[in-house]
Amino acid sequence: MTVLEVIQRSAEFLGKRGVESPRLQVELLLAHVLKLPRMGLYLNFERVLTPVELDEVRELVRRRGQREPLQHIVGSTSFCGLELAVNKSVLVPRPETEQLAELGWEFLNARASAVAGAREPVAALDFGTGSGCLAITLAVKVPAAQIVAVDISENALAVARENAARHQVGDRIRFVSGDGFAAVPAGMSFDLIVANPPYIPAAEIETLEPEVRDYDPRPALNGGAQGLDFYERLAREAGAVLRLGGRIMVEFGDGQAEAVRGMFERQNWVVEQVKPDYSGRLRFLAARLVK
Ligand code: GLN
Repeated sequence: MTVLEVIQRSAEFLGKRGVESPRLQVELLLAHVLKLPRMGLYLNFERVLTPVELDEVRELVRRRGQREPLQHIVGSTSFCGLELAVNKSVLVPRPETEQLAELGWEFLNARASAVAGAREPVAALDFGTGSGCLAITLAVKVPAAQIVAVDISENALAVARENAARHQVGDRIRFVSGDGFAAVPAGMSFDLIVANPPYIPAAEIETLEPEVRDYDPRPALNGGAQGLDFYERLAREAGAVLRLGGRIMVEFGDGQAEAVRGMFERQNWVVEQVKPDYSGRLRFLAARLVK
């Protein structure tokens, strides 16, 4: 079978299984097996696959047909241009979260210039780090920054540590396990706190696509009855570890903007920005504290 035939047949198969963008998915799987960039497939449409290659592609397409996420099958994803390992212990980083990372590193870099020469380096806290995507991107983009990354899952932290080492920022990120602010080492404070907390209302988890419902860790999705539990904790507790002039930046789910804003405002935060993602949905909030 040729590359083109494999693409066509497998795309039809995945389409029937309810997989979104089936042709793209097959191309990515095939590129992975053949160790080619995806566009390289287009120059090789007539190439005949070896029996070994064909077996391998069939197996991966079968798994994708059972709605296992592509990122789990190939074992990694790209986030802000960085290749990050993922597995069942971490939420697969989403493209919209790249925008939160960008808001974060822009603020932190501005802050680093403003306080250049100060005794303490700029510091950021990643609340619920998962794969480490936010902590690692901040460390890469802000070379002066020290980062603390907290997660309640030891298994997630193992993935995050591996990712930090892969991008050579392990020495500037302190990974700590524990439940939210209780895990933050005593006496530490931060210029920036970022969080993409679990925000799916508990009862809605069963209605999600199988790739999310069956493969992202439940604790990384479940935001309690309304999906808002973590924003309440952040609004109440983050102030205690925020430095003067610092910011908190959070991501939230569809339709949660007003509720999240209200929670922060009731705890005396000044909401500076509520920003949409690239699909136009309100998705990010940035706030500072009047102290
Ligand atoms: N901070 C990680 C991310 O943004 C994990 C988030 C989570 O598990 N809810 O992908």
